[in-house]
Amino acid sequence: MSTKLFGTNGVRGVVNVELTPEMAIKLGASIGTFFGRGKNVIIGYDARTSGPMFAKAVTSGLMAAGCNVYTAGMASTPAIQFATKNHNMDGGIIISASHNPPEYNGIKVIWSDGIETSHEQEAEIESIYFENKIVYAAWDQLGSKTELPNINTEYKDAIKKHVNLQKIAAKHYHVVVDAANSVGGIALPLLLREIGCKVTTINANIDGTFPGRLPEPRPESLGDLSAVVKAVHADMGIAFDGDADRSIFCGEDGIIYWGDKTFAVVIKQYLLKNPGAKIVTPVSSSTLIKDTAEAYKGQLIWTKVGSVTVSQTMKAEGANLGGEENGGIFYRPHQAVRDGAMTCTLLLDIMAETGKSLAELVAEEPQYFIEKGKIELSNDKKEPLLKLIYEEVKHENVSTIDGVKIWFKDASAILIRPSGTEPVFRLYAEAKNQEKALKLVEDYTALLEKLLATI
Ligand code: MG
Repeated sequence: MSTKLFGTNGVRGVVNVELTPEMAIKLGASIGTFFGRGKNVIIGYDARTSGPMFAKAVTSGLMAAGCNVYTAGMASTPAIQFATKNHNMDGGIIISASHNPPEYNGIKVIWSDGIETSHEQEAEIESIYFENKIVYAAWDQLGSKTELPNINTEYKDAIKKHVNLQKIAAKHYHVVVDAANSVGGIALPLLLREIGCKVTTINANIDGTFPGRLPEPRPESLGDLSAVVKAVHADMGIAFDGDADRSIFCGEDGIIYWGDKTFAVVIKQYLLKNPGAKIVTPVSSSTLIKDTAEAYKGQLIWTKVGSVTVSQTMKAEGANLGGEENGGIFYRPHQAVRDGAMTCTLLLDIMAETGKSLAELVAEEPQYFIEKGKIELSNDKKEPLLKLIYEEVKHENVSTIDGVKIWFKDASAILIRPSGTEPVFRLYAEAKNQEKALKLVEDYTALLEKLLATI
């Protein structure tokens, strides 16, 4: 029997195949046992068709274990995380499979600070689940169930406290919001109108079949956003992932930016106002992040890949800003988790403050070209291969925080990293020109293949 439920970001699976309501009830009771009888737990879900089904199943399990459940209904992941903290909950549950395809759903557990539970805490929940350690409450000690209807409004109003509303309103920005037919369309369009922006929405009707586009916001799937921004002469476009913690942006010219570029815009402005501040980012981030932090005298802290690690590191280090290349920005004055609506509002604040468009702000950054590759191998060969590659490259400027990252003197870099979920090694190379990036991927793929043959 498998003893693993949690992956890199909660429990995920194909609905009614890998993840069933029976499992959700048992998991709810296990999570309830983990938090303890009498504790208060909030629960919410994104637009997926199975959201209400799993929310009810998990709620049943939690109440059986004696937890008082506060049902938030449909909301984005950052809105539920904010409410967990804001309503002094002991914990939270988010029913979402984030950017996975429509047939998936997932269950994510949140600690009282709004941050996802650690892998150690997840292992504890797994042992309760698999080793039949669930503690059911007696009939007169069952948990209660209360509706919490206003979390989206509270979340929207909280974001406004972190920006200069007068300056933004004076600019009358026009923003196109691509909500991916999910929860990204709940708070942000309303928030933007309230702060004086004109809003055009696409894929804003809630539909868990995701008819507009897949929930992963990748530049190649955001052609509609780009076209609409240009057609209506908007100042900016934003596209959310399925649960609206990640956000990808485009400027007025319709060019879609990968997350590093917008993160660098935020870092620069933050460091200009907060010299010497700490910035947290996974080792998978671009050299652009390193350059920007160095240029504006920030203290960059690299972490392993994974949003939970970034959040935990920010908390431990007292850092206020973190970010990932996939479009996740963490702004701790609001909350130390990825938050798409907060990111959009921060970018508008920076545009209003500097008087520059998003395209102009991105154009000021150094240019890097990124190429990716992968090789397949069985999971048992990952560790030996990682050791061999490290032996080969250890004389270079190397980091082993997660996989092996090498920084070269000509400002190029490569990250070679075993996937946490698939039997592959991934390579991410970047350089000042495309040819160099491509050559790095080719050279190191060849080196990996050669070393793999010796194992
Ligand atoms: Mg997400």
